[in-house]
Amino acid sequence: MSRSVLVTGGNRGIGLAVARALADAGDKVAVTYRTGEPPDGLFGVRCDVTDDASVREAVEAVRIQQGAVQVLVSNAGITRDSLLMRMSDDDFAAVLDTNLLGAVRMTRAVLNDMVLARWGRLVYVSSITGLSGAPGQTNYGASKAGLIGFARSVAKEFGRRHITANVVTPGLIRTEMSTAVSEKRWTALVGETVLGRAGEPGEVAAVVRFLCGDDAGYVTGATLPVTGGAGMGQ
Ligand code: NDP
Repeated sequence: MSRSVLVTGGNRGIGLAVARALADAGDKVAVTYRTGEPPDGLFGVRCDVTDDASVREAVEAVRIQQGAVQVLVSNAGITRDSLLMRMSDDDFAAVLDTNLLGAVRMTRAVLNDMVLARWGRLVYVSSITGLSGAPGQTNYGASKAGLIGFARSVAKEFGRRHITANVVTPGLIRTEMSTAVSEKRWTALVGETVLGRAGEPGEVAAVVRFLCGDDAGYVTGATLPVTGGAGMGQ
């Protein structure tokens, strides 16, 4: 089976690993990229998820290239960490705008075709922080918790159309985003895992691939932790 897949933020990190895993499984995979160049061997569309026009143009470009999006992996995300008392409204709003509203815009842009097809798969990349919280990440934690409530509501609104909506909550995964923390913080985060190590992007990709596949046909509204045991799901 070769479906039309769109992965946001698929030019690096977890998104790229997801895109490659789904392409290897035989899907037609497009990725959005905001900066730099698209990855080799994948169809790239430039897109900023904070801009609704850009989102709609990207979804249309994917439709022309490989057909209407049947599987959306909403992965694009940013951090703007600081302690709450020092956090500006701008930093709070920017993180909500990308991580939560970005997913909302993308979902709205692909849902029409999914409803018409009476089939679709939506997977949202949230975070352990959305469940457990983390100091310095009130904006990020709120955005990632918001994704869970959003996905569950989408699951309920569109379930009768055979559209599923699920969430993964990665813990510490080795990417540019996570390796920006200090060595001390990295060691502390590894110490919170049960497996005693950080995860690799491919280990998140494998779970996302499962949620996008036929084997997950009866899974919707679920939140799957991929944390090495640091957070076991709440
Ligand atoms: P990276 O920083 O490596 O990648 C982030 C991706 O998001 C990039 O492709 C980036 O594009 C894209 N992006 C950011 N802002 C926008 C925007 N406005 N419009 C379009 N694309 C955008 O992070 P990760 O791979 O680590 O993270 C991927 C997801 O996983 C994020 O949602 C993150 O919150 C989540 N996550 C990561 C964890 C980790 O430990 N790494 C743990 C838990 C969750 P560009 O390259 O153009 O900037």
